[in-house]
Amino acid sequence: MVVPDVSPTADTSTAPAAQPNGRAGSAAIEFTNVVKSYQAGQPAVGNLNLNIDAGKITVFVGPSGCGKTTSLRMINRMVEPTSGTITVGGRDVSSIAAPALRRSMGYVMQSAGLLPHRTVVDNITTVLRLNRVPRARARARAAELLDTVGLSAAMGRRYPNQLSGGQQQRVGVARALAADPPVLLMDEPFSAVDPVVRAELQQELLRLQRDLAKTIVFVTHDIDEATLLGDKVAVFATGGRVAQYAAPEEILRAPVDDFVAAFVGRDRGFRHLSFHAGTGVAVHAAPLAPMGAAAPDEGAAAAGSGWRLAVDAGNRPLGWLAPGSAAPLLPGGSLFHAGDSLRNALDAALSSPSGLGVAVDDDGMVTGVVRAPEVLAAIDAARISFNAANTATAATTTPTATSAEGRP
Ligand code: ADP
Ligand code: MG
Repeated sequence: MVVPDVSPTADTSTAPAAQPNGRAGSAAIEFTNVVKSYQAGQPAVGNLNLNIDAGKITVFVGPSGCGKTTSLRMINRMVEPTSGTITVGGRDVSSIAAPALRRSMGYVMQSAGLLPHRTVVDNITTVLRLNRVPRARARARAAELLDTVGLSAAMGRRYPNQLSGGQQQRVGVARALAADPPVLLMDEPFSAVDPVVRAELQQELLRLQRDLAKTIVFVTHDIDEATLLGDKVAVFATGGRVAQYAAPEEILRAPVDDFVAAFVGRDRGFRHLSFHAGTGVAVHAAPLAPMGAAAPDEGAAAAGSGWRLAVDAGNRPLGWLAPGSAAPLLPGGSLFHAGDSLRNALDAALSSPSGLGVAVDDDGMVTGVVRAPEVLAAIDAARISFNAANTATAATTTPTATSAEGRP
């Protein structure tokens, strides 16, 4: 998927977060001593200090009412801080006109917030039109974005109420991406859709982010969603206090206090497993069927299933061919990238019609296939060694572990 730059043709002088070359990736966000008090009493956000990496997904997670939305909205000045400083790409946001600032960042919320009386395409192109991108170019961009978020072109002519909740959220994401902003703010974007669609949207976001490398700040109350999506996770406690800020595997493996431990949950040991590198899983030769090749490849026999993986001239996966057939091409499921976790390896194997998960290198070229039973065996082995290590640690830290797990 290619997502070209669509920089505004005008008004760039007031669009601060756009990078000089229009490309995303260098917009780090920094909170320094940020306080927000809506009224006297305990502030919604007490004293927030946080550095958010450019080009990564940072998740704010925590129970309801702890200041996640407030913190997110101060980034684009939908909420003004009482005191303190927020910078984006090194620029103090308070020095930038709020409307221009807002337009320079994508924003996705729980209800997609689409304009009901405008078509999907018109919704997606709203910001582009505000940025004076010519109509034809804006519509072409909208068509691309529909494809990017997995919707057909025909959807573009519909009105929001003619779409399912999940489709509306996809349109919300397309709209947020329209002007190719370096920063994407997402507030519980998938919380209102059913779990199956939600899992799909989460995978789509991860897939998109591989290509886009936006600075994404993502708010959720769901620790599973946080650890799945976040490169880093900030666990919020009441009053906008960040109890722990770390990579998800660190938060699951070593919660800093009882609050985080309780929030992460009793089965954190098992969740942690999914972060084990999938390097122990055997990658077998793929049963390749290069497009245009006359005969089935030797690899088919080696893999023993009869399924063949179609690849393009660059050895990138196109889809699967069922045993004995040359068409149709069946969509391939998720990919297992070198260095990914066991969870990704299992995902790839289970989502593939052949039961073989496609492994690719950094360039997206096929390196082989993984088999579900072997991934499961690797997960089991990791669980056994994790439990053994945990039992040994528990002997010395029982009081803490007990108090953390005894909480509701
Ligand atoms: P979260 O997103 O973590 O659920 P919020 O940031 O929405 O939390 O809210 C944090 C606290 O600030 C809550 O106690 C909430 O009631 C309060 N709050 C949020 N918005 C307003 C507002 N506009 N006026 C007054 N209080 C608010
Ligand atoms: Mg909220």
